[in-house]
Amino acid sequence: MGTVTDKERIDEALELLWVLDEEGHNELDRFSLSSDDPDTTLIVETLLNEGFASISGKEILLTEKGRKTARGLIRRQRLAERLFSDVFEMSDDSVVNDACKMEHILSEELTESVCTFLGHPPTCPHGKAIPRGECCKKLKIEVTPVVTRLPEFEVGATGKITFIVPSEPSRITKLNSIGISAGSIIKLIQKKPSCVLQIDETTVAIDPEIAKEIYIKKVIK
Ligand SMILES: [Zn+2]
Ligand SMILES: [Zn+2]
Repeated sequence: MGTVTDKERIDEALELLWVLDEEGHNELDRFSLSSDDPDTTLIVETLLNEGFASISGKEILLTEKGRKTARGLIRRQRLAERLFSDVFEMSDDSVVNDACKMEHILSEELTESVCTFLGHPPTCPHGKAIPRGECCKKLKIEVTPVVTRLPEFEVGATGKITFIVPSEPSRITKLNSIGISAGSIIKLIQKKPSCVLQIDETTVAIDPEIAKEIYIKKVIK
């Protein structure tokens, strides 16, 4: 019996286990069906031998070691997706493909810089959670974030909304109906007592609680 030594194949398998776990599917069968690996039996054996996963009944579960590695990979991949979509404004399809390679390239240090630069985004462009890093806890501002939350945005500046992370999904529809959605160009008029934005010719006021859920990038004219 051999083992897989190609790190990229192991990484892909760990990422898949993480994603399936998020979806509540830990079945070994499910993993084998979803995996693109040329030899799923062998990759599973490698994961078990390396202590990345364990089998429990019909399920394959990440061990603590496996979770730690997968978490880092997923974090880098989803941050890369954000970077490509928010900063380089690439289309969704190319985002996933390029981001898929990025997680193998980004170093720990670079990951923190990218996360800070993007304003510690909580989710990827597909709405999946980005595992938090040390930088997110400390919120150190060594690099000026390109994307900030609306309450931290500069009054008088014009920005483009990059994404909205609503605590209540129904908020998105409400915000969209007043012209606030990802891609909208707005000017911040005031922050207190409520956030007042100018969108085209209209002025709208939004609750500070909701303003915190809106992420914005400055537009340089
Ligand atoms: Zn994503
Ligand atoms: Zn961070």
